[in-house]
Amino acid sequence: MSVIELRQVTKTYHGDVQALRGVDLTVEYGELVAIVGPSGSGKSTMLNLIGTLDRPTTGIVRIAGHDIATLSDRQLSALRAKHLGFVFQQFHLSPGVSALDNVADGLLYTGTPRRVRREKAAAALERVGLGHRLGHKPNQLSGGEQQRVAVARAVAGDPPLLLADEPTGNLDSASGAEVLRILGDLHASGTTIAVITHDMDVAAWCPRQVKVRDGAVS
Ligand code: ADP
Repeated sequence: MSVIELRQVTKTYHGDVQALRGVDLTVEYGELVAIVGPSGSGKSTMLNLIGTLDRPTTGIVRIAGHDIATLSDRQLSALRAKHLGFVFQQFHLSPGVSALDNVADGLLYTGTPRRVRREKAAAALERVGLGHRLGHKPNQLSGGEQQRVAVARAVAGDPPLLLADEPTGNLDSASGAEVLRILGDLHASGTTIAVITHDMDVAAWCPRQVKVRDGAVS
């Protein structure tokens, strides 16, 4: 079984914008893959489908073996909570909330008791090198540190698949390199990672590149 399987997937917005035109993509467990292409090529649309945040117009999307067309919205939420971690360009941390609680709150929908959530959050922050920043709030952290908190939040529940949307897009090159190093460590310890990017250097750093152009992959 593959972690991501797209079969002849199309996505049309408002009946006329063809964002994806028949995409086939298979990603196996353990891969670190870049989904790379220029702005407007269809990357975010693919990310939304792989992240089960949207449904295809036609074709099949299977995540961890589940055909998402057969699942209710509630079942999709459960699938996301169990199988997926998300990292975004803009970090999306809650302001005024400590790093520990930002990460622990990411586990709310997994049904984990509060004490265990906080233990897992501390372990995940340790993993991204922020064990000494548990009580810091986002505005007390650098951009690179905030993104590391976001990575910790995404992996605290040990999801098999991490989706990172332009994870270095808002960072200076040193912080970006540090975030990539952490993604590399996670990959080495078994997490499957798809990095969505228009940055050729980030794409080249990944062992596999899926190129998206005009709604098609090559
Ligand atoms: P990328 O992430 O590579 O920049 P997108 O997936 O965002 O590309 O966009 C692919 C195409 O679909 C573009 O032509 C874009 O304008 C269009 N598009 C994306 N989202 C929507 C939407 N919600 N409604 C209408 N058109 C959209």
